[in-house]
Amino acid sequence: MTEAPLLPDLIAALPLPTLVIDRAERIAAVNPAAGSLFGGHTVGRHFVTVLRQPALVDAVERCIEDGQGRQSRFLASEGDRDVTYDVTLRCVAGTGLLIVTFQDVTHHAQAGQMRRDFVANVSHELRTPLTSLMGFIETLSGPARDDPAARDRFLQIMQTEAGRMNRLVGDLLSLSRVEAEERMRPTNQINLAEVLRTTLRNLNPLAVEADVTLRADLGTEPLMILGDADQLLQVFTNLVENAIKYGGEGRPVDIGCEVSLRDPMLRGPSVRITVRDHGPGIPSHHIPRLTERFYRADSHRSRALGGTGLGLAIVKHILNRHRGRLKITSEEGQGASFCVILPQDVVASDV
Ligand code: ADP
Repeated sequence: MTEAPLLPDLIAALPLPTLVIDRAERIAAVNPAAGSLFGGHTVGRHFVTVLRQPALVDAVERCIEDGQGRQSRFLASEGDRDVTYDVTLRCVAGTGLLIVTFQDVTHHAQAGQMRRDFVANVSHELRTPLTSLMGFIETLSGPARDDPAARDRFLQIMQTEAGRMNRLVGDLLSLSRVEAEERMRPTNQINLAEVLRTTLRNLNPLAVEADVTLRADLGTEPLMILGDADQLLQVFTNLVENAIKYGGEGRPVDIGCEVSLRDPMLRGPSVRITVRDHGPGIPSHHIPRLTERFYRADSHRSRALGGTGLGLAIVKHILNRHRGRLKITSEEGQGASFCVILPQDVVASDV
């Protein structure tokens, strides 16, 4: 007959960090995963000296008192990373043993925090134009009711604010659509040069209005890739529109392309499209955060120009779907350069 396995062997088989506390309130066994969480020499010590955090110690004491299972939290730091554990405490009937398991829920906790931050940001972004609209409606139905000049001015502002809300809702919808499709690789062969020409044609009126010349050097060859033409049109529209908006009036914007057989970033064939402006540029400390939702380097200027702060977040998600990259470089006063690097998995003979 096989012998009943020993407690340490039993819990060593569990994937989650697990320890056992006996009726003398000492650590009776620790599996290797919990060993790396609490360090060596834990067996035989009082649980308070091992677990230490008041919320967890309190939960263990109450379990020992009433024999009921409980949930608790444990926060640890591993290297430079904060880790959050959900702790489950269960008493083993008739043994006086308490089994404590730790489950890493850091990702859940972070996702929850991101969701809360996102809702708070969206509410804030919507509330600003909404407050302004409500103020003007009140003024128009009261003091300015019989003042045609004021009425026209206020209606104009209301139109701008409503347009801002409309753009924000449009960008939020785009972002959620793009995120939903992020794991589906595009399968259509498209000519990137065509997408770029359409982008430039669409944005020409905006460029003319801002006295900006769009200088494109796209060569004559088709640039075939596997891609989603509508989404890439959105990528280049966002980048060229930003270059026109932030690059400053009267300065040209350059759009260039380069094909490489072995791209150092993608380690394979690529097409690099660079949109470069000659405006004020972006201070370097902002660059790593520009693709975060609602992150603005120059908040005042972005809002004044009707920006939503979502354009580059949308660009990032679309490029992720295409397994591409975005490289942003800038020197203050020297303009900014946004380089889109896309894998070129289609060989010319396929075209
Ligand atoms: P926005 O709607 O505010 O333009 P984006 O996500 O498109 O949002 O861009 C984020 C921020 O990056 C902008 O608010 C702006 O501060 C900065 N930015 C983007 N493109 C440029 C550029 N070509 N030159 C300078 N700053 C830029």
